[in-house]
Amino acid sequence: MKSVVIEKPGVMNLKDTNIPAPKPGFARIKVKAAAICATDLEVIDGNIPANYPLIPGHEWSGIVDAVGSPEDEAWIGKRVIGSNDVVCLKCDFCRSGNWRYCKDFEEIGFKRNGAYAEYLVIPVYGLCELPENVSFAHGALCEPLGVALGTLEKANAKFGQTLLIMGAGSIGLCMLAAAKAMGMEKIVVCATTDKRLKIAKKLGAYATIATKEQDLMSEMKKIHPEGTDVVIDATGIEECIQNCLKLTKKGGYFALAGYGRGKVMSIRIDDIHVNNLHVVGAGNNWNMHKKAVELMASGTVNIECFISNTLKLEEFEKGIDLARKRPEGFVKAVFLL
Ligand SMILES: [Zn+2]
Ligand SMILES: [Zn+2]
Repeated sequence: MKSVVIEKPGVMNLKDTNIPAPKPGFARIKVKAAAICATDLEVIDGNIPANYPLIPGHEWSGIVDAVGSPEDEAWIGKRVIGSNDVVCLKCDFCRSGNWRYCKDFEEIGFKRNGAYAEYLVIPVYGLCELPENVSFAHGALCEPLGVALGTLEKANAKFGQTLLIMGAGSIGLCMLAAAKAMGMEKIVVCATTDKRLKIAKKLGAYATIATKEQDLMSEMKKIHPEGTDVVIDATGIEECIQNCLKLTKKGGYFALAGYGRGKVMSIRIDDIHVNNLHVVGAGNNWNMHKKAVELMASGTVNIECFISNTLKLEEFEKGIDLARKRPEGFVKAVFLL
């Protein structure tokens, strides 16, 4: 099968590899769409633990083509999306529903081969049917939408509350779309330039702030004078996180949803301590893909406009280059197979 393989950090090739055989409890998917995520760039660059050589790709949709256990045969031929989490299902974490804390947790696209290929192997327990009215390309975006939903849940986000999203990458924009759908108010999206803020405006952001041109603190003082109920950092950048802590309303929630890449930073302790902030990590989200696909199927959240470029797998270099350079109008590139 055709697949894109990261041989080692920085070295990526289109190769002919063996079609994987599903073990008992697993299903083989004929991949129909695989989206390029900014996290894939971190895997390509070696900034995130991964098992090389690796086929990356964790945002996907497809059709079940084979199963490893006869009792799963009913899945064959179904349009699906699925969880990327391979876990033991037996430990206390798994049994309490906290799959990703399992010591055996391995994520498809990171520790196991992912979706930049014609076929992919996925555990049957994580499969979810993709309704006919959701396209394969749109279905591949269930994963980032699920991340956004998980983050909003961890940040205790509620109907009618104000929200500030730092960063207008695809996760930041997914959060905006989900927060709008759940009835959050006066949602502000910040990014360094207004290149992607135009999309945020189109999606219904109450205000956008381009921090290179506008003063973040004084603008926010005008929009949310008492501070913001829920603040989410989707950048992982020290200065952004420090600002977020200052912009969260007293007693409010601040969620960290950006990769820190091992960095250490300084914070003003009293921004958290005196203001009774709830600071939560939101880097791991699971069991949200089902909710995401339901929201897409019902039309409650429509993020189809995020797909700015569709490509063939053979054009992977072009796709990666687009994801790195993020030209004007670019949100997401999706491989269609
Ligand atoms: Zn992703
Ligand atoms: Zn477990």
